[in-house]
Amino acid sequence: MSSIPGSSRAPYPRRLLLLGHPVAHSLSPRFQNAALEAAGLTTRYAALDVIPSALAGAVATVRENALGGNVTIPHKSAFATYCDLLTPLAERTQAVNTFWINDRQQLVGDNTDVGGFDALVRGVLGAVPNDARVALLGAGGAAAAICAATERWMGASVAIWGRTADRSRALATRFAHVTAVASAPLALRDATIVVNATPIGMGTGSEAIPVSVGDIPPRAAVLDLVYRRAETPFVHAAIARGLRAADGLIMLVEQGALAFERWFGFAPDRALMRQALATPGPAQHASA
Ligand code: NAP
Repeated sequence: MSSIPGSSRAPYPRRLLLLGHPVAHSLSPRFQNAALEAAGLTTRYAALDVIPSALAGAVATVRENALGGNVTIPHKSAFATYCDLLTPLAERTQAVNTFWINDRQQLVGDNTDVGGFDALVRGVLGAVPNDARVALLGAGGAAAAICAATERWMGASVAIWGRTADRSRALATRFAHVTAVASAPLALRDATIVVNATPIGMGTGSEAIPVSVGDIPPRAAVLDLVYRRAETPFVHAAIARGLRAADGLIMLVEQGALAFERWFGFAPDRALMRQALATPGPAQHASA
C-alpha cells in the first residue's frame, strides 16, 4: 500500500458510502458488507442516491465524518475535481471510483475500475491479450478506466464511440492509442473486444442493447460493464450469436476488492464477495 500516494489512512472509516444516481440497482452494499462482517469490522457500507446538484454537499459530509467509499454513475469525473490528492490511475483517468480520508485529513481519490477491467478480461480471455482492437461504446468515467487499462497492454488500440462526440474526442486526445469514431458500427469494424461502457441494459427491460450484435466481428469477445441479477440483454444477444461474452460482475467484485484494500490495508475474501452476490437479500441504502 505504501506505493499509493495518500494511502496513509486515518483510522478505519466508520462508514462507507456509494455515491451515485441512480444507485438502487447496485450490488456493492451486499458483497462489501459480507466482506466487512467476515473480517470482523464494524464499518458498514450503504448506497446513497446523490443527484448531480447535491454532490458538493455529499463531499462535505464525507470530509466532516472522515468517510470512505465508492463513486458511480454519473459522478466519477466530477468527484475527481473535489479530491485533494489523486493516485496516478485517478489522475490518468480523471475519474474516481474509490475515496478515503488520509491521516492529513485529505480527501484521496483512486480508480480501481482499471484493475477491475483487467480482471474481467482475464476472466473471459484467460489473459490480457496482445494487439487487441477494442471497440469502446461510451465515453464517461468507466470508458476512461478502459482507456487507462488498455494503454498498459502490448499493442492495443481503441476505437471509441460516444453519443456526445466531444467526450469521446476528449478521451482520444488524452490517450495516444485511442481514436474517436463517428458511429458505433465504425467502432466495431475489426474489433477483437467490444466493451459496453454505457448504462444501456441497466434497467429491467429486456430490449435495450447498445449495438446490433450482427455488426460484431464473429471472433470478438463482448464485455458488458453493466451487470444485473439476470444476464444483461447485450450478453444474452451476444451468446445467442455464438460470441464469447460476459457482464460486469467479475469487474464489480475486483474493483470492490481493490477498494477494500485501499480502505483497510488488507485483502478481503474475494470468494465470499462472489458468494454474497449469488445470495438474494434486501437492498441496503443510506439516507442523506
Ligand atoms: P458515466 O460517466 O455517466 O458515462 C456514461 C456514458 O454512457 C457516457 O458516455 C454517456 O453519454 C453514455 N450514455 C448514457 N446513456 C446512454 C444512452 N442511452 N445511449 C448511448 N450512450 C449513453 O457512467 P460510467 O461511470 O462510465 O458507467 C457506465 C456504465 O458502466 C454504468 O452502467 C455502470 O454501472 C457500469 N460500470 C460497471 C462497473 C463494474 O464494475 N461492472 C464499473 C464501472 C462502470 P453522455 O456523455 O452523452 O451522457
